[in-house]
Amino acid sequence: MNAEQRSQWHLLSVEAAIEQLRSDPAMGLTAQQVAELQAQVGPNELVERASRSPWRLLWEQFTATMVLILIAAGIISLFLQKWQEAVAIFAIVVLFGLLGFVQEYRAERAMAALKKLAAPMVRVRREGQVQTISARELVPGDIVLLEAGNLTPADMRLVETVNLRIQEAALTGESEAVEKDANLVFSADAPLGDRRNMAYMGTVVTYGRGVGIVVETGARTELGKIATMLQTVEREATPLQKRLDRLGKALALVGVMIAAVVAVFGLLRGGALGEMFLVAVSVAVAIVPEGLPAVVTITLALGARRMLARNALIRKLPAVETLGSVTVICSDKTGTLTQNRMTVTVLDLMDRSVRLNERIGREEVKLELAEPPTEETRLQAKAMSLLLSAGALASDAQLIGDDPGGWRAVGDPTEGALVLAAAQFGLRKDELERRLPRVLELPFDSERKRMTTVHELNVENDASAVNDVLAQLPIAQSRFVAFTKGSVDGLLDIAAQVWVNGGAQPITPEWRQRIEASNARLAAEGMRVLAVAFKLLDERPAKADEALERNLTLVGLFGMIDPPRPEVKEAVAKCKMAGIRPIMITGDHPLTALAIAKELGIAAAEDRVVTGLQLSQMSDEQLSAALTDVSVFARVSPEHKLRIVTALQRQGHVVAMTGDGVNDAPALKKADIGVAMGVTGTDVTREAAEIVLLDDNFATIVNAVEEGRTIYDNIKKFVKFSVGGNLGKVMVMLLAPMLALLAPASPLPPLLIPLMPLQLLWLNLLTDGLLGIGLGVEPAEKNVMRRPPISPQANIFSHGGLGQVIRMGVLIGAIALGVGLHRWSAGYEDWQTMMFTTLAFLQVWQALAIRTGNDSTLQAGLFSNKSLTLLIAVVVGLQLAAIYAPALQSFLNTTPLAAQDLLTCIALSSIVFVYGEIEKALARRAGYPPLRQAGLEAPPLKDGSAGSVKLWK
Ligand code: ADP
Ligand code: MG
Repeated sequence: MNAEQRSQWHLLSVEAAIEQLRSDPAMGLTAQQVAELQAQVGPNELVERASRSPWRLLWEQFTATMVLILIAAGIISLFLQKWQEAVAIFAIVVLFGLLGFVQEYRAERAMAALKKLAAPMVRVRREGQVQTISARELVPGDIVLLEAGNLTPADMRLVETVNLRIQEAALTGESEAVEKDANLVFSADAPLGDRRNMAYMGTVVTYGRGVGIVVETGARTELGKIATMLQTVEREATPLQKRLDRLGKALALVGVMIAAVVAVFGLLRGGALGEMFLVAVSVAVAIVPEGLPAVVTITLALGARRMLARNALIRKLPAVETLGSVTVICSDKTGTLTQNRMTVTVLDLMDRSVRLNERIGREEVKLELAEPPTEETRLQAKAMSLLLSAGALASDAQLIGDDPGGWRAVGDPTEGALVLAAAQFGLRKDELERRLPRVLELPFDSERKRMTTVHELNVENDASAVNDVLAQLPIAQSRFVAFTKGSVDGLLDIAAQVWVNGGAQPITPEWRQRIEASNARLAAEGMRVLAVAFKLLDERPAKADEALERNLTLVGLFGMIDPPRPEVKEAVAKCKMAGIRPIMITGDHPLTALAIAKELGIAAAEDRVVTGLQLSQMSDEQLSAALTDVSVFARVSPEHKLRIVTALQRQGHVVAMTGDGVNDAPALKKADIGVAMGVTGTDVTREAAEIVLLDDNFATIVNAVEEGRTIYDNIKKFVKFSVGGNLGKVMVMLLAPMLALLAPASPLPPLLIPLMPLQLLWLNLLTDGLLGIGLGVEPAEKNVMRRPPISPQANIFSHGGLGQVIRMGVLIGAIALGVGLHRWSAGYEDWQTMMFTTLAFLQVWQALAIRTGNDSTLQAGLFSNKSLTLLIAVVVGLQLAAIYAPALQSFLNTTPLAAQDLLTCIALSSIVFVYGEIEKALARRAGYPPLRQAGLEAPPLKDGSAGSVKLWK
């Protein structure tokens, strides 16, 4: 086939397309065909923005600005014939390069693993069975099952369509969904948007379902031709990364200026030009936190991996950071706050209500109804059978298992509950469907909150239990019947009769009141209530539309329980302590919503609930006002979610919003953190989301927030550590030569170069290169979920952070200067080695002081961070080698220290640690200054008081 013909699939009939692709819609491809085709056409993916290859990563390490400066310095040392320096500088370049490479490579691999997980799954028919596979594995000829919420995974000729509608904006820009029809065959070419017998990769199934045969995959699809990227984990610089990048540049500038001052001062005092140049370069290098980009990348990527271990899949890396700033979590109720394990516990007929307990079956209910065995109870038993049959027939869920003990339902849990309830009364869905095959359907959607199916009556004279029941029903006389199930309020609007005493009666205000009262009673217990109605039809309706849902006869209600997830209550409490407000948004009845919200602590007893209807009548201002005290929104449609997000964001909130349905995607996109469901969600929402909950659990969002805050803390610790330490080193380089002029005269030569260039580079390697990594994996602080969210505008140095850094840096500088100058003026040759060693230990103590935030390090356990402990051991070992190993001695220009001098270095440097602990203790005494500053004490917020946002600026 040539390229021209290839895109002409819409001109072929279904049969012709199948023949060309040598497939079979009923059986699908064989494993052998699949293997051959996969080898032939390759994976079904769009040309990827190649993830960075290891070589590329390595290259990047050596082309970073700072490294380039170092390389230049190395070359100049060669010219100056300073062989040792040259070798050392190049060694440092290689070491830093390798360290950076290892970290980035690990980060890259972590991201690649996430990316694999994020690829959508598709349902295909292969070897006669429906299988779920990754969309990457599709080949031409595969038979794919589509349903609302799917992203079309490849280009397909449709084989079967049931009310299938597809939104093709990704391809045509047209946002209105197109009605698809497998039976169409085009005789002349048509533009993409008109090819209604085709489904194209990257488009969205918004309604109905269908089956298609894959005609093109990967880059040969229409989408592949315009080569947009889809389905990847995005990697873009996070706001924090960008800000840190700016910080790095600013420090580089400062570094160059200070380096110039140091060099000029040295020259004026008679230093050699070449020497002074190297000193200047080293000072510049010492000031710039080289390790920063690598530490941030690895911290974020490893954070994403930790979140994955806690069931939150990060799709966009910046989310790791944004999570720490979340102030509101808007959550669905069903499945996220609750278990989505629906069980029917109440059958409510017009004139009788039956409560089922766990194990009750048909016999028991019969008994209950049969005492006293009157005509009335006989009719009630029939109505109950009608209710149960209708509920099961109007559901897509299927019953699995043969014996009652092992019954299970697959499909939507609400529908599964109905199917199981019917089966318990001897009404198996498969048997029902044999008697009443479905001919048409109007699928459920969360806008209408109901669903209708049309069935043909198949008279069969067998003696099955189903036949037995159905034969007695009013429907036995007509040819077609439509069953509608859905929200009670919705069905009351469209019902004209009620079914009582074996007949239909007009629905009077009294009936209506009774039904509403039953509904309210059940909902107030936290139950989901579904009403069921039917309508007899003489002939088969031409198509399924809302005309079917008029003039219905209401049979009764189902009350089903869906217990809250056990861990959610605690998660809600944690949220509130952390200054995050949980809001419930549900399609369910207000009373059901409130009952569950109260149980979970999201709402208080006297709280009001806003319904979708009320919401749509509110102005933006009214909505804003309502949002200050309303935590439960019920009977909402997906478009209301968008309004809620927008209103919250206008108030300055950082919003996380969950969603599972097709129509939730815009709200998820709009939210700062879109949260999709991994189990029950749709491809579309996953595509729009920042994170995917692999267990659909609200508590997982809270855990992710906690991780996000910890990651932010750790990056902040690293920056404080690095900048503080560098400040100390700069002080030494800048001030030592000047202070030496004031110090008592020394028998030694004038103090021109406080630390040798190699010593500075060495210190940098130990601190930013090694200790810094350890700070990135610090476990969560005690108060991490007991303080308000971090403002997205806050920077690393907010909350008195800058003061801390400066105080710590000055102390480090002062101690090192004190040691060095004292030894120098006293005439000890080892003054430089002492200063050098003291600095190394100062930074070890500094890392220990900084690692716990405001908590006491001693209380947390001095060595409770295993990675850091290990790195400290390495650093101490290296520093000892630097002064005692002969090879390094000449290299680093050190002299061996006497044991007591070494101990002096260690003891004096520990002052930094003691100081750090005291400063933290004072901060804790003052009640965590950040909290106090923000006008907050832990626990910071009471119910609903987060109307005005309290952020940690
Ligand atoms: P939630 O926000 O709790 O997930 P849904 O949008 O799923 O709410 O459901 C909203 C309402 O729609 C329910 O209260 C129920 O009345 C009705 N409903 C839910 N599922 C179905 C279904 N499969 N068929 C018919 N009606 C349904
Ligand atoms: Mg739902």
